[in-house]
Amino acid sequence: NGHERTLVSQHVIIDHINHGGELDKVTAVKQMLLAAATAWNKYQMYLGCVDILWQRGGNASNSSTALALIGEEIEFLGVITDSMEQRFLDEDLKNYGIIYEHCVIHLGIRTPTATIISNTYNASRTILSCQRNLPELTLDDFKKLPFHSNLYKWVHFEGRPDADVIKAMLQYIDELNNNSDNGKMTTSVEIEKRRDNLSCLFDAADVVFVSKDYAQGLGYQSMEQAVEQMFTRCRRGAILVCPWGECGAAAVSPDGSVVTSPAYPPLRLVDTLAAGDTFIAATLSALSCGRSVQKAIIFGCQVAGAKCGMRGWSGMA
Ligand code: ADP
Repeated sequence: NGHERTLVSQHVIIDHINHGGELDKVTAVKQMLLAAATAWNKYQMYLGCVDILWQRGGNASNSSTALALIGEEIEFLGVITDSMEQRFLDEDLKNYGIIYEHCVIHLGIRTPTATIISNTYNASRTILSCQRNLPELTLDDFKKLPFHSNLYKWVHFEGRPDADVIKAMLQYIDELNNNSDNGKMTTSVEIEKRRDNLSCLFDAADVVFVSKDYAQGLGYQSMEQAVEQMFTRCRRGAILVCPWGECGAAAVSPDGSVVTSPAYPPLRLVDTLAAGDTFIAATLSALSCGRSVQKAIIFGCQVAGAKCGMRGWSGMA
């Protein structure tokens, strides 16, 4: 009867994750200072790590994984390269039952990667990101999807650097909704990185997720203050959600009331990578089932907290 699928757009990368206590930022900086003091021009640094693994990454791609594990029918839309990493991505997306049949394949470019140093003592992470020169998804690519077939119930976007294109994609869904008598697609967008141009996305979606980092960049000191102030930028009837790390999350419901959830820390913090993406997935899934905003962010914090207690996605199924 249609309207079952959640579409998540639009970036996939490969994370090379190095797990190891010795790889902590502080240790690395100390070692570098020592090196500088002894032989500035001729120094190599060896740091052992406990484990290294490849993991499909990127915010939208991570949220797709979490949504699939929660049990949603999920399609990922993004740009994939025909590089040596493609087989890894194909197998991994299939493993999680993520549909990716409308992804655009680019030739002759390597897959963007991030080398991540994950500290096994405190689950902090250091990320070296290499985006390469992969083109972003275009509005024409996006319009090729079968939106008229009543397949999609929800369309979620990661706010990428080309915010005006994302905005145009969101407006396209609004137009389709306005001309449809057959159920509407809900839209959401994540505003995460501190990029000025992302502010144009605040009034472009039904649900807006804003990261703690972005909110702090605007000068907000607490999650309650952040959601209250940022809500004025959203469109009428929108929901604004702001996860705040170990403090939990806050949100504003369409009626303007502020709701909060505590964090649900695991017994032992193991890996906080993709905690935010997991929070978005779980909150989005709960909202799409008709749960209240308060219940949705509590579910988001519970699932994200559980994720922080495991390495990668092991144990989430
Ligand atoms: P990210 O680190 O990916 O930017 P956030 O810090 O915004 O993500 O955290 C997202 C959600 O993950 C939070 O709302 C919270 O529920 C959960 N979370 C993150 N860090 C912790 C933690 N140390 N303990 C418990 N829950 C956490």
